[in-house]
Amino acid sequence: MKPKFTSLSQIKAAIRAGQTNCSLLVEQYLSRIAASQELNIYVEVFAEEALNRARQLDEKYQKDPSSVGKLFGMVVSIKDVICYEGHQVTAGSKILAGFTSLFSATVVERLLAEDAIIIGRVNCDEFAMGSTTENSCYGPTRNAADPSRVPGGSSGGSAVSVQADTCLVSLGSDTGGSVRQPASFCGVVGFKPTYGRISRYGLLAYASSFDQIGILAHSVEDVATTLEVIAGPDEFDATCAQSRGDTFSKGVTSKGVTSGKSAKKQVRIACFDTALRHPSLDAGVKKLTFDFIEKLKAAGHEVEPVEFEYLDYIIPAYYVLTTAEASSNLSRYDGIRFGHRTAEADDIHEVYKKSRTEGFGTEVKRRIMLGTFVLSAGYYDAYYAKAQQVRRLIHDRTREIFKDYDFILMPASPIPAWEIGKMADDPVAMYLADIFTVQANMCGLPAISIPIGKHASGLPIGVQFMAAKFDEAALLAFSGGLSPLPH
Ligand code: GLN
Repeated sequence: MKPKFTSLSQIKAAIRAGQTNCSLLVEQYLSRIAASQELNIYVEVFAEEALNRARQLDEKYQKDPSSVGKLFGMVVSIKDVICYEGHQVTAGSKILAGFTSLFSATVVERLLAEDAIIIGRVNCDEFAMGSTTENSCYGPTRNAADPSRVPGGSSGGSAVSVQADTCLVSLGSDTGGSVRQPASFCGVVGFKPTYGRISRYGLLAYASSFDQIGILAHSVEDVATTLEVIAGPDEFDATCAQSRGDTFSKGVTSKGVTSGKSAKKQVRIACFDTALRHPSLDAGVKKLTFDFIEKLKAAGHEVEPVEFEYLDYIIPAYYVLTTAEASSNLSRYDGIRFGHRTAEADDIHEVYKKSRTEGFGTEVKRRIMLGTFVLSAGYYDAYYAKAQQVRRLIHDRTREIFKDYDFILMPASPIPAWEIGKMADDPVAMYLADIFTVQANMCGLPAISIPIGKHASGLPIGVQFMAAKFDEAALLAFSGGLSPLPH
């Protein structure tokens, strides 16, 4: 189904022309949500509240059109790991059943301050651990391009909420690809910023040195506009960069044509032979990626193979480090302070044990155990410390590449969206499919996935660009210029 609006600027023009308003927009999105129930996108829809807010915003606009915020007309969904005061948040987990946020994430505050409307919270893998949105206590979300397939994950609900036209933009989180991979599976744009660009305050933590909130949208332009609003320093997140960096949308125009200082006409792009000839790469994905590279070259860009010898070390190091961080972060869910508490315990140890046993799903338990193991005395040096060294090597080598190149190009995923259930019993196969997205998180780099076409199976395929730290303006200007993006 073709979405009615694919950018905020189209919506704003329609509002100015009197063709729509916030109330109508929310009503339309709510009816799309009702019509796509079988995709299992939303965990909770804030229908009443979104309609009330839309009415208030319409009145504000009628009184004085210049009084409304930058995101007036933007309807947003949020992944079920982002806190919104007075609303439930559960990270797709039984352990947080019934938990209500006591405060809003900084990103939520900033969206609301610029008059965006939040329409609901969307499904995800439990604590953002997964690549399919199957590991959720609410059941799997389905890909709107083919409901027998996964939408990717962990921000699968976010990707399908945009794909199925139930909102304009969604906020997800990306620890190892959770925004970019589902975006590529669903034919939308998915962006993960530099580590520290967006405050993590109010984001339920998975692996704190990797996690970033990311943006899913139909257009690079809307990614840039949203980023401009939610990025910047925050006294509640000490890892947040001090620079506001507030000109991301300058180089990206509504037609996807690139202009402005941040947009170079010709860029230098590195790609890795080890990635483009990787044995796990599907033939159809490979062909689309090579065809796309030819188009880039024809447009005058330089695309060159670069040696990168660490590709196959990325996944093992990532799964050691993130599980270690997760085992520590998730220790707070103890049956005492948050959410689920067992009804059958005789002493305090049983409360902890049974609450966690009942509350967490299989994948989360697997990662807590793995993380606890790699941090334990006697194994720490062999696993955790070693993986930190690998992370440093990958970081330094990647930084070197950016001395000579503007961007690194890779497929977003080696394979298109697979059938629901296909990898459910093979976690290692699923981990290995993260091979191309994890590097950006290991190194804290900004990266974007944009749709480049359809696989022979009819499924959408994306390509990924990574840039040097804090080079979002150039990354967005360049990818926004790769127009028109196929839909
Ligand atoms: N699939 C990866 C994992 O399971 C990435 C998840 C994410 O980015 N949140 O860890």
